Amino acid sequence: MTNRIYIVGMGPGIEEMMTGEAIHALEQSDVIIGYTVYLDLLSERFKEKELMSTPMRQEEKRCRLCFEEAKKGKKVSLVCSGDAGIYGMASLMYEIGKSYPDTELFVIPGVTAANSGAALLGAPLNHDFCVISLSDLLTPWDKIERRLQAAAEGDFAIVLYNPSSHKRKDYLLKACDILLGAIEKERACGYVENIGREGTKVVTCTLEELRNREVNMFTTVFIGNSGSEITNGKLITKRGYQIERNTDICRDN
Ligand code: SAH
Repeated sequence: MTNRIYIVGMGPGIEEMMTGEAIHALEQSDVIIGYTVYLDLLSERFKEKELMSTPMRQEEKRCRLCFEEAKKGKKVSLVCSGDAGIYGMASLMYEIGKSYPDTELFVIPGVTAANSGAALLGAPLNHDFCVISLSDLLTPWDKIERRLQAAAEGDFAIVLYNPSSHKRKDYLLKACDILLGAIEKERACGYVENIGREGTKVVTCTLEELRNREVNMFTTVFIGNSGSEITNGKLITKRGYQIERNTDICRDN
């Protein structure tokens, strides 16, 4: 094995939310390949690097470009937002990599939108949770529906990725209607837009309110479990600790 490709999760956007290992991999690279939106976020910090891109929907071409550049002897990083192994390019790279046996792949983990969004909302994922993408580009919608139903019936906290796009404006509404079949309409929910980027927006609401919200493709949605609550604007999913309510402490202070 001579050639190396780093598959780098760059976190939600700002450099502060990238891991040290991810920054190190990019610093070591001759060429950084990725979707233009992510390259734009990195271009200032890594301006001395060769930056290469292919348009959205040309993921296979982008992956092959990585292998071809690595073949020329360059150190290559493929960047994905969040984590490359969570609705990212890591698995496609391994599939295409079967035809490039002399190239070794290294996945560098990143902070996925579920983590970074949860931190902004408070602690919505502090118990068992499910992550479901509403994108039906690569997954049939009836399978997404079944997964939504199963997550609701299992009383999981739920994270929804890809809640909307230009072509799928009503998918969040459709998903909420499925969830409302098993979950009460007052269920504590929240969503976060543009995490780690300009225009970050953090919102808490009920499931019924969520149903009618317009969200964009840079939004991650959180649905609490039956014990979740909104306290002082934060969405909290309890771990289950029995905490003492010590009124004496208040009196002494
Ligand atoms: N690999 C990425 C996910 C890619 S799927 C990760 O691990 O985070 C794209 C979806 O991720 C978006 O539709 C949105 O739901 C979520 N997402 C990615 N970046 C985001 C950001 N900066 N703010 C809010 N949501 C984001």
